[in-house]
Amino acid sequence: MEHDADVIIIGAGHNSLTAALYLQKAGLSVLIIEQAKIAGGAAKTAEILEPGFKHDLFASNIGLFMGSRIYNDFKEEFHQNGFDIVVGDQPFSSVFPDGKCVRVYTDGEKTLREFERHSHHDANAWSEMISYFQKVAPHLFPILQLPMPSLKPFVHLWKMYRQCGSQELLELIRVLLMSPRQFLDERFETDEVKALLSPWAFHLGLSPDCAGGATFSFLESAVDHLNGLALSKGGVGNMINAMVRAIETRGGQFVLGQAVSEIVVKKGTACGVKTADGVTYNAKKAVMANVTPKQFIKLVSEKELPENFVVKSKNYRFGPGTLMIHFTLEHALEWEAAEDLADSAYVHIAPYMSDIAATYSQVVEGYLPASPLLVVAQQSRLDSARAPEGKHVLWVQVRAFPHRPRGDALGEIKIGNWNEMKEPILNRIIDKIGQFAPNIREIVRKAVVWTPQDLEDENPNIVGGDMVGGSHHLDQNFFFRPFSGWSRYKTPVKQLYLTGASTWPGGGLNATSGHLAAMQLLREN
Ligand SMILES: Cc1cc2nc3c(=O)[nH]c(=O)nc-3n(C[C@H](O)[C@H](O)[C@H](O)COP(=O)(O)OP(=O)(O)OC[C@H]3O[C@@H](n4cnc5c(N)ncnc54)[C@H](O)[C@@H]3O)c2cc1C
Repeated sequence: MEHDADVIIIGAGHNSLTAALYLQKAGLSVLIIEQAKIAGGAAKTAEILEPGFKHDLFASNIGLFMGSRIYNDFKEEFHQNGFDIVVGDQPFSSVFPDGKCVRVYTDGEKTLREFERHSHHDANAWSEMISYFQKVAPHLFPILQLPMPSLKPFVHLWKMYRQCGSQELLELIRVLLMSPRQFLDERFETDEVKALLSPWAFHLGLSPDCAGGATFSFLESAVDHLNGLALSKGGVGNMINAMVRAIETRGGQFVLGQAVSEIVVKKGTACGVKTADGVTYNAKKAVMANVTPKQFIKLVSEKELPENFVVKSKNYRFGPGTLMIHFTLEHALEWEAAEDLADSAYVHIAPYMSDIAATYSQVVEGYLPASPLLVVAQQSRLDSARAPEGKHVLWVQVRAFPHRPRGDALGEIKIGNWNEMKEPILNRIIDKIGQFAPNIREIVRKAVVWTPQDLEDENPNIVGGDMVGGSHHLDQNFFFRPFSGWSRYKTPVKQLYLTGASTWPGGGLNATSGHLAAMQLLREN
């Protein structure tokens, strides 16, 4: 194995793999060093409970990846390397007490009929929202893939101004600043429809009252309705494997199971890394680190960094944690509200927006939430490759959970070490799902609970269980990500770059920071 490469990349998350492919395309050699035994970061698939049951261990919805630059540029090769997509026609739904539910389909007419069951007003408001999306999306989506700050986003906004006028432009900016509650209250009347859309912002850790959260509820709801919710056939790991093969075909190398413990800096320039087992790898041109600012300042000697960069890194905020539960099931869930809910890729259970708002404040205060948002994903209903015939996997993301609990909002679970709390937490979550799909109690074969600490132990970028690499509040997003002055992937050390979910445009399988960081590196080399 060569110990030299033009660029050494720390971490094998999908952003690193994206950066590697663009660097290779430009003729540079890459070496990727990953502390885990397999590549993928927070996008991995494995049979963790029983043979033949494939679980997406963390991320599962690949909608953002499908809209990414890397997919557009490399799709044929990825598909030749075994990546395939499954898209269902029921992207997401929410369930409520008294047998109520709201289901979103890719079929526009069917979705409208579903909204009409709840409210004529909300059916009209949904249609208007989708039309509004179709008008603004061509202006907005390109901006989410551009470097921040730069002139290019302003060029897009200028084009929008020319096409649509100043009122439309100002209205879009207002939407970008709104909280989910403000956006939803302004448009919809029923609690059920508001509860259907608000969870998407909470996937990014933004509660119904966080400024800037409306964008995610709005965009994700509309995109999933129009395109369907996409999964990688056989598991998200197949998407990662396709990227890994593309990198290896071009001569890229991987060192797996080795954590980088130090970035070697000489005369203010990054020239390699050291791993925990004491091996040094030399970078001829640059080092790129897919780590959070918290970890970055541990890898680089503080004397190489200006004091204000260190202070900003220390002040970088993480959002609420996540807890994951993976199940193997004897049968599919039987939802009381409607039989076809079993075919909904995601079923959100909060049940109401007020549950999410209460969860957020309980979690930031350090309490196990009374009624967390459950994201119940039924991948094997869409993708039969994931479980033996007739059996199923179930992926339950519990949003949100405290990093370090100091109490239980319901006063029922005794706070101790995480391992002692797993069983009562599991029972609470099964009870909550059981209110809407009572057969869960009889059909669970096996289950495993991963606490926020387990997630961080697996991947040091999931700090305190924050699944999206740091808070996405407005003051830490756009050109403030990871913090002001450093949103363009550079660091104070020459030839040392940052990528990953802690950099713009943040968390999710959008592959954008990997692309933009590679472009920045190539501009300077
Ligand atoms: C439970 C969960 C569910 C999610 N669900 C979705 C979803 O459905 N859809 C979606 O779009 N997004 C989802 N996300 C978010 C998404 O997975 C992440 O934002 C995305 O994977 C970030 O990619 P990345 O390449 O920036 O970093 P990561 O995937 O975090 O990869 C970083 C890699 O760097 C490695 N690393 C860190 N430090 C070192 C070191 N010192 N030495 C060597 N290696 C190191 C880590 O081990 C890791 O492999 C989810 C995340 C989680 C945790």
